[in-house]
Formats: sequence, C-alpha cells, structure tokens
Amino acid sequence: KIYRPNDASLSPLSSKTILFAGYGNQSRSQALNLRDTFASNPDVSAPKILIANRTDSYHETAIADGFSVTSFAEGAKEADVVFLLVPDQVAPALYNSEIGPNLRTGALVVVASGFNVFYKRLEVEGVDVGMVAPRMIGAGVRSRFLEGGGFPCFVSVENNFSGRALEMILSLALGIGGLTAGAVECSARDETLMDLFAEQAVWPSIIVAFREAYSTLKKLGCSDEALVHELWLSKEPAEVFEKCAEDGFIAQLKYHSTVSQYGQLSTSLGMDATKLQEFFKNVAEKRILGGEFTKEFIDIDKEGGGNGMERKLGGLYAAASTSELAVGEKKVRERMGLDKV
Ligand code: NDP
Repeated sequence: KIYRPNDASLSPLSSKTILFAGYGNQSRSQALNLRDTFASNPDVSAPKILIANRTDSYHETAIADGFSVTSFAEGAKEADVVFLLVPDQVAPALYNSEIGPNLRTGALVVVASGFNVFYKRLEVEGVDVGMVAPRMIGAGVRSRFLEGGGFPCFVSVENNFSGRALEMILSLALGIGGLTAGAVECSARDETLMDLFAEQAVWPSIIVAFREAYSTLKKLGCSDEALVHELWLSKEPAEVFEKCAEDGFIAQLKYHSTVSQYGQLSTSLGMDATKLQEFFKNVAEKRILGGEFTKEFIDIDKEGGGNGMERKLGGLYAAASTSELAVGEKKVRERMGLDKV
C-alpha cells in the first residue's frame, strides 16, 4: 500500500507533545519540517516540539533553531510521541535506560530504521511502536520538503497498543513531509532485511566486481589512469543509475550504443548466477534474518571497552587499501592533484 497526503490528517497531533531524541542528520530535518508544516496550517493547533540532546554542538544548534531542549529522561516524561533519532548502535542503551522507563503508557515510539525493532533491542512494553523511515539523507529530507517535492519514505505500525497507532504514524509522516511523494507500507523486518542485504550482498558484489575488473584489465596492459576513468571517475556509473531511476532499470539501456546493449543483455542473460544466488540466500537467511550479522556487529562493538568497531574498521580499511584498484587509484589521484585541499 502507498499512503498519500489524503490518507492522513494533522489533527491527531494537536495538543500533543512530540520529543525528538537526538538532533543529528534526520532529527533536525524532521523537526524543522514538522514545525513548518504546522506554521503553514494555522487552522490546526500545533503540537509542542521538544528536542533532547546531550549538551554539545547539536544542543546549541537546536537552541539556535528556536527549539526547547531538554534531557532524554525529562523529555520522555512529557512526551506523547518520541522520535528515536540517534545512531542505531546507541539507541537501545539510551532508550532502555533513559527514555522507555519515563514514557507514559500508550505513548508512541517512532523509529527511522527497522533494525532495533526487528532485532527486539528496545524494551517497548505498553507503548505504540511505528516506523517512519525516509529513504533519503537528512539534508535531502529538508531540501526536498522546502522545494515541495517530497522524498520516498517507508511507514509501518509495529505495535498497536493504543489501537490508534496507524492514524498517529500517518499524521506524523504527513507532518514531516513523508507522504508528499507517497509512503510505502513496509515492515521493520522487511526494511531491515532490504537495508542490510543491500549493504552486505549487493554493494559487496559491486565492490568485488570493480576490484576484479581492475586487476584483470591491469594485467592486460590497461593503465591506472585509463582504468580509473573508465570504471568510475567519469561518473558514468552514477549517470546510469540516475537513468535507472528515471526511465527504468532495463529501459535505460536504450541510451547506450547497440554494441553495449547487446553486450550487456546477452552476457547478463547467459551468466551462471548459481554461486551468486547461494551467496545471496545465505546472507539473507542466515546472516540477516538468522541474526548472525547483528550478533557479530554487537560483539565487535563491545570489544576493547566500547571502541571495538573503530579498531575493526581501521583494520578493514587497511586491508581494502592493498588491492590493485586502491593502490592504482591512490597514484592517479596524487598525479592528478585530486585530493589537494
Ligand atoms: P546521527 O548520527 O546524525 O545522530 C546524531 C545524533 O545522535 C546527535 O544528536 C547525537 O548527539 C546523538 N547521539 C549520538 N550518540 C549518542 C549517545 N551515545 N547518546 C545520546 N545521543 C547520542 O543519526 P542519523 O540521523 O543518521 O540516524 C538517526 C536514525 O535515522 C537512525 O535510526 C538511522 O538508521 C535513521 N536513518 C538515517 C538516515 C541517514 O541518511 N542518516 C536515512 C534514513 C534513516 P551528540 O551531540 O550527543 O553526539
């Protein structure tokens, strides 16, 4: 189902108190959008918007934007709705210790990512839980709202304690501009599966394809300069993906030469995808739905007094930088002066 602005009303939010927990990428844009929506609909009485953040630069920004800023615990005591918009890896500890225990029965917790809901990392007894998940970075959530164009969004109700969760979720989605382009009904489970699958199956396959293409062609005499330009520096792949969105994934092939169209279609249709299918099935069923990846991620993050992921990522970046592609690109960027500040 796709929800449009006509499916929702702002009135369920009147006289409510809405807490934005965190004031980062998503939170700032969503809070500003919500405030502006009510400013341009003066016939509906506006909700009280509160921001909760630690005392640092985000806190200062929220005050400069004209919002009242409070602590997570104090904000939760007042809130009818909490947007939980802090990084997914910190949300459970913050929610379970400071927000959840202070929420009133029947309050609504809104997440922008299914991860912590699907893996049951939030202790959400006696409250409504829903998702309003923009498929867009925070800056885009704001700029598209201001342009009036909207942004793609997923919405779902995950726990309907009050019996009114859907009405509230659609009202909030309308308020932040998430229905303008049509919001797709998508569960936290499906959002998590698709999001992690793209990150752990689709993009790694593309990284490996580019890395191996680079090595194969380098061995056949192609220069680093030519390879880097041919494969990505020209931004041709970015343009192709843009056309995929505009014209269609296959239909955009019409912009390519006949040699290219024939090469792409005949090769992809003839390719043996058995190994890829096995890899995809394993990632989806065991790593993601089976919880293997999340357990591994959480365990690494806890290591070394909580900075395990930082060290692990350092090691992974170091390993990735030894490939022929990475070494070749570094040389080209230096020679072309691309990284000068
Ligand atoms: P950010 O990284 O921008 O969040 C930063 C905010 O979280 C700041 O207010 C920061 O405050 C606060 N914060 C960070 N660590 C802590 C902590 N330990 N305790 C308390 N507050 C903390 O998050 P995003 O906006 O990127 O993500 C928020 C949600 O939106 C996530 O669920 C994410 O998956 C989802 N989402 C994000 C998208 C994106 O493009 N970024 C797209 C769609 C969904 P402080 O000043 O104290 O550091």
